[in-house]
Amino acid sequence: MFFRVPFLVQLLFKRRVWRGEDSNAVYLTFDDGPDIETTPWVLDLLRRENIKATFFCIGQNIENNPSLFKEILNNGHAIGNHTYKHEKGTKTKKTEYITSVRKTESLHSSNLFRPPYGRLNIFQVDNLLSMGKKIIMWTWNAQDYKKSLEHSQIIDNARTIKGRDILLFHNSKKSEQNMKNSLPEVIKIVKQKKLFFKLLD
Ligand SMILES: [Zn+2]
Repeated sequence: MFFRVPFLVQLLFKRRVWRGEDSNAVYLTFDDGPDIETTPWVLDLLRRENIKATFFCIGQNIENNPSLFKEILNNGHAIGNHTYKHEKGTKTKKTEYITSVRKTESLHSSNLFRPPYGRLNIFQVDNLLSMGKKIIMWTWNAQDYKKSLEHSQIIDNARTIKGRDILLFHNSKKSEQNMKNSLPEVIKIVKQKKLFFKLLD
């Protein structure tokens, strides 16, 4: 597993968004929230750093943490759809998958969609695009959920971050340690590179 998605993969899946448009900016994203253990910490850090980010939320987690979800919105961050129960597209029937996306849509409407595990079949892609969704992938994955990864490795690799990159972190129990130990340093590195943080739209 790589931090950066190989260019060939981006070429193979052209109907998905792999990078942002502004070469002076990066696009910070957080998957799997809202999560009571990690999201408040992230919101606090982003507030102090004066950064806006895009949160790809799981419908079920929005339902379980309504006030925390509202807090993400009130802080001016953007929201994307990340399915209702974190279904893997390649293991879920088309209609079931789209039902999950719509159920999440009914909680909060967004034109941004990110598939859990990055997995989708071609029919799901067709459907999502016809629903007007942008399928947002990522350029640089912190892989903060990996127990085998040291947070110092994440920080070291952040030096490869450049303009237009979509950065992927998680707010979940599994990623808590690596995320908390690396994100402040990653933000520092991005700022040193004179890159701005922008919302996806
Ligand atoms: Zn996810």
